[in-house]
Amino acid sequence: LGAALAIGLTACGGEGAGSNSNTEDAAPEDLTIGVSMPTQTSERWIADGDAVQSQLEDAGYEVDLQFANDDIPTQGQQIDQMITEGADLLIVAAIDGTALSSQLQAAADEGIKVISYDRLIRDTENVDFYVSFDNFKVGVAQGTALLTGLGVLNADGSEGTATGPFNVELFAGSLDDNNAAFFFDGAMSVLQPKIDDGTLVVKSGQTDIEQAATLRWSQETAQKRMEDLLTGSYSDGTKVNGVLSPYDGISRGIITALQNAGYGPDIASANPLPIVTGQDAEIASVKLINDGVQSSTIFKDTRLLAEQAVTAAQAFLEGNEPEANDTETYDNGVKVVPSYLLPVETVYKDDIQSVLIDSEYWTADEVAKGQ
Ligand code: BGC
Repeated sequence: LGAALAIGLTACGGEGAGSNSNTEDAAPEDLTIGVSMPTQTSERWIADGDAVQSQLEDAGYEVDLQFANDDIPTQGQQIDQMITEGADLLIVAAIDGTALSSQLQAAADEGIKVISYDRLIRDTENVDFYVSFDNFKVGVAQGTALLTGLGVLNADGSEGTATGPFNVELFAGSLDDNNAAFFFDGAMSVLQPKIDDGTLVVKSGQTDIEQAATLRWSQETAQKRMEDLLTGSYSDGTKVNGVLSPYDGISRGIITALQNAGYGPDIASANPLPIVTGQDAEIASVKLINDGVQSSTIFKDTRLLAEQAVTAAQAFLEGNEPEANDTETYDNGVKVVPSYLLPVETVYKDDIQSVLIDSEYWTADEVAKGQ
């Protein structure tokens, strides 16, 4: 019976896989791609969703795009439904990188390829490719931007004249997002030596990622933690000189807390705002950078990421393997997922024109208005 059952299962698995593995003979318009994005509260994910959808549609495919309101069960249900409705391939940016195993098993059983988008899906064999940016380098760029803003480094990366000691505080992203540790580790690779030699002082003592983390990358949570840090470690009148922030929404929460406590209004004020870093070049933060309030952000061109996702999707659907440029870094706990990683750019005020406006990511008018 055991053998019969095994044969039965194999046959069934074979058929299931067969129903989707011959996508190479199908016309694009007969193929549907499910695109699952985490949330619409951050504009980067809206831009990602739009870019993936329009580029897939330009290539002729049908697209089922869903946003999950940062709610883990919602994302699971949306993906289940995509599979039930016959999706031929999935592109997924997970809220919690470990929470989708049953959905992805169902996808694998149907022979549906899964591309992990920007955030690595963990603890499953059933993820076929990863498209993202070089996440460790994002963190290095954030740490470097903090040191540059403080004058510890010059713009060209050489040692600057400022030696501190500077009081800094550290924020990290959501720990269920695989990227958060890459960003924090990358930043600490440049900040830790400066903490060790006394150039930087983390007055709160909160230097572990668990202490620095911000669940769901929430602006409000970050604002609250910054308020607590100010009360807990700076009520003696010492000033915060710099804050490592992994994401623009978190940066704005941090800045609000600081302004409410009397810092600012900007970096050039008599009681200056600290140097605050960021990520994503969100329009509200680009305006703050332009106004001298936030110091920097990291630009990740979501149009290029979408392009990579579409290229990989097309390769799979045509029966090929997508081209990876990294096959070592992204171990998801079960396997190393072949990856295509894109480069990132640091944006200070002087770079807004050349990096963001000239590339038509934002218009000058949007930068001026912050929306
Ligand atoms: C992305 C970042 C983004 C963050 C919050 C991360 O997974 O890589 O670009 O800032 O999520 O949405």
